[in-house]
Amino acid sequence: MSSTSAQPTIFSRIIAREIPATIVAETENIIAFLDIAPKAPVHVVVTTKDQQYRNVVELAAGNPALLAELVAVAEQIAVERTNGQFRLVFNTGAAAGQTVFHVHAHVMGSPEPADVLGEDSLGAL
Ligand code: 5GP
Repeated sequence: MSSTSAQPTIFSRIIAREIPATIVAETENIIAFLDIAPKAPVHVVVTTKDQQYRNVVELAAGNPALLAELVAVAEQIAVERTNGQFRLVFNTGAAAGQTVFHVHAHVMGSPEPADVLGEDSLGAL
């Protein structure tokens, strides 16, 4: 699927500023914003500005450097916003909970040193 022929995803519409979101990080190729339905005290969506890749498997095969860049931005967000321990989740496929078919990671954690994430932040995405 190419970004020129496909309908814009909800994330592309956020990138285009057509839909409001709280953007927390942005580089030339990557953008990150607060999830609209957080499943953890810190829950940030990190995605590519290009919607060409539908999931992390496609991105890893098609542009591994861009995947590495996405992970680096995710780590930066986790360092800034969590106690340093966090989940980095790529739902892959509808049966695994993926609802937006524009590759993205969920960064989930807590700023509180003693907090332990519950299973909800894995299972309810
Ligand atoms: P998925 O279910 O595909 O792994 O993750 C999609 C995520 O995008 C969900 O956690 C959902 O809450 C979030 N999301 C969907 N629509 C919007 C939106 O319009 N704004 C923001 N900020 N997050 C959204």
